[in-house]
Amino acid sequence: MIALNIRNCKECGKLFQYDGVNKICYGCRKQDEEDFKRVKEFLYENPKETMTVVSEETEVCEEKILRYLRQGKLEITGDSPGILLDCESCGKAIRTGRFCEKCAHDIGKGFRSGFDRRERSSKRDSSSAHKMYITEIRKKRR
Ligand SMILES: [Zn+2]
Ligand SMILES: [Zn+2]
Repeated sequence: MIALNIRNCKECGKLFQYDGVNKICYGCRKQDEEDFKRVKEFLYENPKETMTVVSEETEVCEEKILRYLRQGKLEITGDSPGILLDCESCGKAIRTGRFCEKCAHDIGKGFRSGFDRRERSSKRDSSSAHKMYITEIRKKRR
């Protein structure tokens, strides 16, 4: 039997074949792209509008627009005081993404050193686990 990776689309709940990257189905992805384009074009022409107006004019919910910003797809320019996005870590006003530069830097550093530690310890662990396993077998044979 071939194991198909079927998931529920995060957007519409329909089952679709998960490709390991996209959490939403093809139809929703297309829709999402179109929504994104509309928001981007609208913001380009009306950079001073607030989130509510952008949402109403483009018929894209605020939640989605926020998501584009969080994903770094959209960026608030200096001329768009109407849209507020804050750093998820310290709450500072940011233009795009989830964290301000400082927090992103700190988090990046934390992730990297954490990963290095994990890498090293997992290598050590697997070899010692292997040795332990061998001694286990030897004990049993005795
Ligand atoms: Zn869908
Ligand atoms: Zn921050």
